Amino acid sequence: LIEVRNINKYFYQPTQMQVLTDVSLDIEKGHFVSITGKSGSGKSTLLYLLSTMDTAFEGSIRINGEEMQGKRNRWLADFRNHHIGFVFQFHYLLPEFSVLRNVMLPALKLARYSPAEVEHRAMDLLKLLGVDVQATKRASLLSGGQQQRVAIARALINEPLIIMGDEPTGNLDSQNAAIVFDLFRQLSSERGQTILTVTHDDDFAKRSDKVIHLVDGKVAH
Ligand code: ATP
Ligand code: MG
Repeated sequence: LIEVRNINKYFYQPTQMQVLTDVSLDIEKGHFVSITGKSGSGKSTLLYLLSTMDTAFEGSIRINGEEMQGKRNRWLADFRNHHIGFVFQFHYLLPEFSVLRNVMLPALKLARYSPAEVEHRAMDLLKLLGVDVQATKRASLLSGGQQQRVAIARALINEPLIIMGDEPTGNLDSQNAAIVFDLFRQLSSERGQTILTVTHDDDFAKRSDKVIHLVDGKVAH
């Protein structure tokens, strides 16, 4: 599903430095993949490239048969909206909006389903994540763990082919982290969704289908 070939990535500020060197990897559809490595090894940089949010790189990234290199920003934004759900360490919910509204927004933007249908699907996801009781509350009133689960529901609303996360459980206690982990497992095995997460949690990584370990911007074999 994801084919990465010979990626080099440089940052030019404050001085030129190469952050990723000759990175090649393959990720199969429905697999649950972890990216690990020390702080500064290039994990977030790699994930941002794969999420198509960063477009400045050498090499090739093919996702679902499409080449990302050289595509225009408008095209990439559209591709992202359709195919990629993203969960950040800090959730970035809109605090003044209701939980339900937060989850519905990406789907209303895409306009693939009617608003009534979107609401129905959003409620199903909130139920799946155990936060449906909070649906009408303002997002800012929920606990950190609850907000993170809402953010995951939001990432799932457009039925993305791929769910990407940068430390999606980094901010959660072990109980909430386990809930999220089990959900990711379930999404990959039952719905064939592909999960790609940066993690510091060794147990999390050990239980995934594949681990991509970065050392100084290179894939360790
Ligand atoms: P952590 O585990 O601490 O999140 P990481 O593996 O995610 O680390 P990256 O954020 O990918 O590491 O950073 C890799 C290297 O690139 C680091 O040396 C970092 O300082 C540098 N870097 C990251 N983003 C930028 C940027 N926008 N401009 C310049 N250098 C950057
Ligand atoms: Mg990082």
